[in-house]
Amino acid sequence: MSFTLPTLQYDYKALEPYIDAQTMEIHHSKHHAAYTNNLNAAVENSDLKGKTIEEIITNVSKLAPAIRNNGGGFYNHNLYWDVMTPGGPSGPEGKLLESINGSFGSFDLFKEAFTKAAVTRFGSGWAWLVQKGDTLVVTSTHNQDNPLMDVTEVQGSPILTIDVWEHAYYLKYQNRRPEYIEAFFKVINWNEVAKRLKA
Ligand code: MN
Repeated sequence: MSFTLPTLQYDYKALEPYIDAQTMEIHHSKHHAAYTNNLNAAVENSDLKGKTIEEIITNVSKLAPAIRNNGGGFYNHNLYWDVMTPGGPSGPEGKLLESINGSFGSFDLFKEAFTKAAVTRFGSGWAWLVQKGDTLVVTSTHNQDNPLMDVTEVQGSPILTIDVWEHAYYLKYQNRRPEYIEAFFKVINWNEVAKRLKA
């Protein structure tokens, strides 16, 4: 097996009441597990064996749709779990806060832009905070695409993401995607986001 479903650093119920345990369990143990297994199957008999997920997805335009979909699904969920935590800091601090202020004007304006990208992503996809050189940019992608892929409009290094596929929120929030996004802000692990910011 090339790629392994990561073990979460917190329990399925740890993000309650913002993200419910049942959603977390199905999302991690079924959805993310399926992307991981399908990626392994797609890579198994190819010349991609032994490459990192980043090496694979940055060249995705030349690869089979199964690699694009499942490679993205594998990478995106890894980041999503990592940037959430129960009881994390209430907002960004230090260099990350400076960078957000410099790029968006204020934390509130960043939050507005990120929320808008997540709310308006039509159908299934993801919203992102991405580092591009000295600046931070908000963008969104459809299906399991991400900003590392050479097929996406806005490319850069992802430091924060939210999954806006219905499977990420429908059990608790049904059609109320904006409520899920607001709740997500209560469980962002800003320390993990800060770690991904390159100097
Ligand atoms: Mn998902």
